[in-house]
Amino acid sequence: GMVEAQLANRAARIRVSKDLIGKDRATGLLNKVGLQRKTQDLIRHATQEEKPLAFGVIDIDKFKTINDTWGHHFGDIVIKRLCLCLAPHVKERDLLSRFGGEEFVIVFWDCDLATAWRRLDAMRQAFGAIAFQVAREETRRFSFSGGLAAFPDQRSENDLFLRADAMLYTAKETGRNRICPAP
Ligand code: GH3
Ligand code: MG
Ligand code: MG
Repeated sequence: GMVEAQLANRAARIRVSKDLIGKDRATGLLNKVGLQRKTQDLIRHATQEEKPLAFGVIDIDKFKTINDTWGHHFGDIVIKRLCLCLAPHVKERDLLSRFGGEEFVIVFWDCDLATAWRRLDAMRQAFGAIAFQVAREETRRFSFSGGLAAFPDQRSENDLFLRADAMLYTAKETGRNRICPAP
């Protein structure tokens, strides 16, 4: 009847708005809120199914210089291009999130640290191979650094993030354009 239809409609709208809250508008990827929710689900499933997870944080190198040299709009294009570059590397049960401005998180389902390193390093190489047109006859390549952490070595979403972020910092400190810890 009418009331049921209205309630169903309302429930559908709530679902849609909940999805929008969890997503980044520019890229359609999960944002920080969406990632936190889904990571908690994934940790629960990994515990039940006794599977390892790997948590990767990536951050574009010298992005301020990119913005300052070629403009904020060009910076946005680099971010979107990175998103397109990462997406095909992500498997069905993995998570891909635009965590902040030029920072992304990938959660690898059923994946140990060494395998995650190889997969994230393949993404690093793929992004590094893209020639961006910065002027009529000038192209530039850019890079990102990444840090990894493993579940269940790190037991909570928060510990995973802190560990991966510390490893990202190590990658930046030791020259950028690399994933830490290397196997
Ligand atoms: P590092 O190699 O150490 O990461 O150097 P960095 O210059 O990339 O430093 P950092 O990661 O701290 O700087 C990120 C900059 O990205 C700061 C901010 O102005 C810019 N930024 C953040 N979000 C966006 C965005 O959505 N679009 C653009 N164009 N720039 C953004
Ligand atoms: Mg950053
Ligand atoms: Mg950066």
